Amino acid sequence: MTNFQSLGLSDTLLRAVESEGYTIPTPVQQQSIPPLLDGRDVLGVAQTGTGKTAAFALPVLQIMERNKTHGKRFIRALILSPTRELAAQIEDRFAAYSVHMDIRHRVIFGGVSQKPQVRALQKGLDILVATPGRLLDLIGQGHIDLSRVEFFVLDEADRMLDMGFIRDIEKVLKLLPDNRQNLLFSATMPKSIAKLAGSFLHDAVMVDVSPEEMTVDRIEQKIMFLRKPDKRRLLAQLIQDHQVECGLVFTRTKHGANRLVKQLGQSDIAAVAIHGNKSQGARTKALAGFKDGSIPILVATDIASRGIDVEGITHVFNYDLPNEPESYVHRIGRTARAGRSGIAYAFCDESESGYLVGIQQLIGMEIPVDSQHPFHFPGAIPKPGQKPGKVKGQSGSRRDSRNKNSRQHQRGQNQRRPRGESTPNQRRQGGGRQNNQSNHGGGRQGNSNRRRNTNRSRNERSPR
Ligand code: AMP
Repeated sequence: MTNFQSLGLSDTLLRAVESEGYTIPTPVQQQSIPPLLDGRDVLGVAQTGTGKTAAFALPVLQIMERNKTHGKRFIRALILSPTRELAAQIEDRFAAYSVHMDIRHRVIFGGVSQKPQVRALQKGLDILVATPGRLLDLIGQGHIDLSRVEFFVLDEADRMLDMGFIRDIEKVLKLLPDNRQNLLFSATMPKSIAKLAGSFLHDAVMVDVSPEEMTVDRIEQKIMFLRKPDKRRLLAQLIQDHQVECGLVFTRTKHGANRLVKQLGQSDIAAVAIHGNKSQGARTKALAGFKDGSIPILVATDIASRGIDVEGITHVFNYDLPNEPESYVHRIGRTARAGRSGIAYAFCDESESGYLVGIQQLIGMEIPVDSQHPFHFPGAIPKPGQKPGKVKGQSGSRRDSRNKNSRQHQRGQNQRRPRGESTPNQRRQGGGRQNNQSNHGGGRQGNSNRRRNTNRSRNERSPR
């Protein structure tokens, strides 16, 4: 069995890894660390939760220690991350792994005073972890020199592009010296990322850790069809029935997150919201309360949730289905961390059935339906052959006829399946469940190619 020693890590780093309690390297670590130690560029398809931070941080630290520099410190490694939370967590990992080394690292991001960041930069740093906006801001003010960077890491590249950071990345790339080692990590590999990777990686080793294999198989997923106004009642009921102590709820909008926190409060459920409109202080406080267990429910938008790495999340609620299917995989991957299992509920109202179609195509399976709740609404079930994406223009009467059709089609579909032939979902689970109904939406046995193709078309179509 592979252990950290066999990957070629130094004793100093092995000690640090041991203190962190890691015994077996994760697949992304096993595949990335040796080529990185050999000086190769790496293109990693891996999401947060797979151990990818250590996969790049450990070799970067080892090479830095091997080639010590003298005199005033300069930025030798630059790690770009899309969100403040993820950036802070990456820096925290560097701190843990470099505990026995003479390495100075620092994270910089917007939304907080730049003064302490500038002071740290002036004192000299070896490793800088940054979000693009504040990085370029401080470069513009003459506080940052990237001309001697030896390692450039672009983390969560797909999210970077989704968030519109492509121009910023291009600007940063122009400031880096030619001779450097590059790493790019992305949860998905749409065409736009492949193009970006091709523009700055040289002869890169591709490391592919499929999210389904890493986490999704350990997560019990359920889809619940209901009317939009019933969502908050069902959520409160599930939280209370399951006595959820560590649950993450996703809404599509910041406003929706705030409103939901108030509504949960009316049911005596303590919750906090985390999203981009909150100050950094409020975000840190909300996350701290959630991490220490004093607040059982965190309500988040997709972007704010990036990089939230809280062990022990037992339930993820897709209160609103994401309009980008790959966000569903990111969301449910917040649970089932570190080898545990978890439950992911998804609510689907009538306007979201097309999003469900896209999600099921992406993950290559039909999500089991739980209809045993008081708000079950068959009208929200996708129609046979329904296309992925937004459901357009529904009037009341069309809604009604849709409901009937859905029911009929659903029955028809089930009848058409030959007796004894299971759904793709049942096959994955080794048998059917009593509560499971088939739901339409292109559920099928997945493979990673198919998943990426779907990602590509959606990402290409709707950059945010
Ligand atoms: P990441 O994907 O880098 O965000 O890591 C997810 C979590 O896994 C973090 O809490 C890490 O501390 C933890 N982790 C990373 N590598 C290992 C490992 N080899 N064994 C156990 N836990 C790990």
